[in-house]
Amino acid sequence: MIPALEALQRLREGNRRFADDTRSSESLISPGRRAELTAGQEPFAAILGCSDSRVPVEIIFDQGLGDLFVIRVAGNIVAPSQIGSVEFVAERFKTRLVVVLGHSQCGVIQATLEQLTGPTERRSRNVHSIVNRVRPSVEGLLETGLRHDYDALVHHAVRANVRASTNQLRHGSQVIEQMIQTEGMLVVGAEYSLETGLVEFFDGAPDEEVG
Ligand SMILES: [Zn+2]
Repeated sequence: MIPALEALQRLREGNRRFADDTRSSESLISPGRRAELTAGQEPFAAILGCSDSRVPVEIIFDQGLGDLFVIRVAGNIVAPSQIGSVEFVAERFKTRLVVVLGHSQCGVIQATLEQLTGPTERRSRNVHSIVNRVRPSVEGLLETGLRHDYDALVHHAVRANVRASTNQLRHGSQVIEQMIQTEGMLVVGAEYSLETGLVEFFDGAPDEEVG
């Protein structure tokens, strides 16, 4: 079992390699690695990320086969199946780090803000089910000065949505709550920047040790 803080460090280092373009060798995705993993998996982190094509989780953390248990859904929202996925990986493979990964310029966040601020095209019930999960965490921002600054509004809304998801994971499941209290599980929030390629951990993650 890989402790949560060690897992977090691996993600930080991998993301730095990605952003600096000093990625690992191809061994992470080699046929040899593939063969090795037929015996089983022990993903060191579970990542709930957005489906956005610009945020492929293994690539931005420079990880290979068998390293990450990835749950991707538009807007990195938490519905029962996402909670179930986290419970599953934690119980079955002893994964102790869970990351909710939002990103800059998230289309789901933008669509939710558009819906709150004006008439928009009609969407299906299924798309609504996603927007409706984002809305509660972002609508309060429209009552602040941020409503005059669209870029800042989106930035804050992305983070508010990540915080809502981490909160739901931490408190929406007895299994996860128990693992946090007694088994060293850590649920953290992070944002990936499309502009820099860097991931910033900002919710529940201890500061990085320097040196
Ligand atoms: Zn997105």
